[in-house]
Amino acid sequence: MKIYTKILIGMAVGVVVGFTLGPNSALLTHDLIEVTNPARVKLLDAPGGTSKGIALPPSHHPGVPPIELRIQEQRHAGKSLYYRVKISVEKRLALRDPNGRLKPGQELEGWVKADGLPAAMSAFGTQLVSWLDPIGRLFLKLIKMVIVPLVFASLLVGVASLGDVRKLGRLGGKTLGYFLLTTVLAISIGLALANIIKPGNFVSPEDKERLVAQYSGAAKQKTTWAAEQPSAVDNLLAIVPDNPMKSLAGGDMLQIIFFAGILGIALTLLPQDKTRGLVGGFEAINDAMIVVVNGIMKVAPYGVLALVAKVVGQSGVSVLKALAIYSLTVMGGLVLHTVAVYTSAVRFFAKIKPVDFWKAARPAQLIAFSTSSSSATLPVTMDCAERGLGVSNQITSFVLPLGSTVNMDGTALYQGVAAVFIAQVFNIHLTLGDQLNIVLTATLASIGAAGVPGVGMITLALVLTSIGVPTVGVALILGVDRILDMFRTAVNVTGDLSATVMVAATEGENLSYREFSLDERERRSDEDGGASSSDADAAPRTKEDAS
Ligand code: ASP
Repeated sequence: MKIYTKILIGMAVGVVVGFTLGPNSALLTHDLIEVTNPARVKLLDAPGGTSKGIALPPSHHPGVPPIELRIQEQRHAGKSLYYRVKISVEKRLALRDPNGRLKPGQELEGWVKADGLPAAMSAFGTQLVSWLDPIGRLFLKLIKMVIVPLVFASLLVGVASLGDVRKLGRLGGKTLGYFLLTTVLAISIGLALANIIKPGNFVSPEDKERLVAQYSGAAKQKTTWAAEQPSAVDNLLAIVPDNPMKSLAGGDMLQIIFFAGILGIALTLLPQDKTRGLVGGFEAINDAMIVVVNGIMKVAPYGVLALVAKVVGQSGVSVLKALAIYSLTVMGGLVLHTVAVYTSAVRFFAKIKPVDFWKAARPAQLIAFSTSSSSATLPVTMDCAERGLGVSNQITSFVLPLGSTVNMDGTALYQGVAAVFIAQVFNIHLTLGDQLNIVLTATLASIGAAGVPGVGMITLALVLTSIGVPTVGVALILGVDRILDMFRTAVNVTGDLSATVMVAATEGENLSYREFSLDERERRSDEDGGASSSDADAAPRTKEDAS
């Protein structure tokens, strides 16, 4: 079976497992509550009774898991619902008990008032997620492992073989211009849809209250991070590394790109017989990393299954319902942007059939969807551009690493919709000036967002602040954010691919779709006479090879 089909099946199984057996599934009993701030939980001796005088020590510290209340039964008293719960005092919890009254292994029992607590979920589903978690994380770690050597080696070789610094400037100008244009188009589509559909008007006051209560703790944490973001000038200066070795070790993509570019240019200025050995060595590293990526793709279906099941399983169905219109607006906008903008760009610049572009982009979209990270998808995106569309390694190695950190059309579009949605729920009128402000700040916020899961939501706080909408509004959309992140990341990488196609076509490269297999790559043969690896891969492949 083709690897692409296997990944698709993995994803579908992940969705089904997540929805049916996840912590929030409709099929399993909901008998567990995870509390991150147990100091608020009062253990009572009976429903509506008096406090047992046991104060649970706080666990709201990074790395300390939430405390689990296991529901034994529920009862109404007066207007309120109460749960009889058991809490087992684990070591970590007891050690945080200042009075030393709690012993490891001890079980506490009592009644708690349901109001104000997070929604209950399934204990089995939670267990299942914790089993799947390492599989997904292993897959992610494996692909992340190759990113730094791959980007550094391939960009260095790409720039060194350009042989002309002016060409690099031209590529940079075109790439950044295209990124900026498509980002502004994306936000405009998002704003237009949010203003026409008005998703904020579909949230009932009860849902609003519930969402804010449930997620405001997490939202506050995210907005604090956003407030700590450095200024624009600092951000620009941060592109230049103090110590390139530190940038490589820390995986700072923009600094790595900057340094690889500078080193590549320097190498072109030296006599070739001096640099041949070094460039050849990096070429070998580049090829070896691609072999590693192809190996990792063999386990991709399992990794994708685990990642998707976890995300889908953790997102409650009730949150999805309350935010259905908002989520559909974001998704509709993403589809519209992808179809209208990218299809036109690909047709206009490269004369590639849109269908072929989509076929080549599919593997990257799928991995982006399941990992929610454009950076983690980068090795696959590069593979799709080079082997699926025949773009040269020179161009992919420049445009795509840059795109995975600065070009996020999906994120920008989502921020436009989210900002208007939150303002609508809070009944805040946004003037035209405010909307223009959203275009400006969401462009910057999407550029500043790293290509990792959930960052778009953090930088959304900057957009909200700029238009005077309370950042606690982030709490409203937090419940569906991870699912929407999957969709917007798939759009982000498609945007990067379309930029690559635009740059390659305008540089005179002859692009066309060729079938390729994600988990196999032809070794470079001697016949290609030292041409770049993409040239070798451009050779037509047999049907059996392809997937
Ligand atoms: N997850 C997105 C990406 O990696 C960024 C975001 O929107 O959170 O492209």
